[in-house]
Amino acid sequence: MDAPIRFLDQKPIELNRRQLVKGLAAGYIVALSGCVQNPTLGRQQLLLVSEAQITQLSASAWNQIRKEQKVSKNNSLKRRLEKVGPPLVTAAGLQRQPWEYTVFQGEEANAFVLPGGKVGFYEGIFKRMENDDQLATVLGHEIGHVAARHSAERYSQQVAAGVGMQAAQVALQAGDVGGAGTIAAVLGAGVQFGILLPYSRTHELEADRLGVVYMQKSGFDPRQSLRFWQNMTAQRGSKAPPPEFMSTHPSDQTRIAALTQQLRQMGYQV
Ligand SMILES: [Zn+2]
Repeated sequence: MDAPIRFLDQKPIELNRRQLVKGLAAGYIVALSGCVQNPTLGRQQLLLVSEAQITQLSASAWNQIRKEQKVSKNNSLKRRLEKVGPPLVTAAGLQRQPWEYTVFQGEEANAFVLPGGKVGFYEGIFKRMENDDQLATVLGHEIGHVAARHSAERYSQQVAAGVGMQAAQVALQAGDVGGAGTIAAVLGAGVQFGILLPYSRTHELEADRLGVVYMQKSGFDPRQSLRFWQNMTAQRGSKAPPPEFMSTHPSDQTRIAALTQQLRQMGYQV
């Protein structure tokens, strides 16, 4: 297995069988069978990469994004993130790692998270939120991706698939909420988009589910998650998303149906 792994401007990492075995022995690559039970999700995950390595990749991506993107001058938006974020992080049990919240300029209704706890929101998404409970919806979703180790899993799936790996497909999600494909619009042309891989539909629905749990635990109104996604759907209007099978994101209908079911199970009348 030869899998060159490239991340942003870093040199590709060549992984052959011998190195893979060495990496496993050294614990650099954390896998024997490769599958690990994730108690947060109640399912097994394929993890072939250490948390430290993902964090390092994440830090590089963050530096790149900070170079490409202009930070918003509207400090009140950042303050809202810094107020709403910590209780959700605590609810996720992730308060021991550092978190950084940044608002970027731009009308894009989008947000993203990197596994090292770097959260980015675009000014545009605040206009789609009616209250801080809806802000908590998006933040909870992003924190859910981190808690569920989705990036490491996506990365590992790509490595395991051995797919050419020319462009490295590191699963650091940018352009999350607004739908697949928006990353190219969100980030400047200087960033190599090939390495940024969207989460799968399963990951999106898991992040939604975890986000709602964190909202409830930290005193936000989980019903606002449903309202937020309904509003997003309505506002998208004629700019309809691609059909679900073409998109890595769940269709609006799938997402709203899953949220409705979860909220009812939690005892809410929706
Ligand atoms: Zn997501």
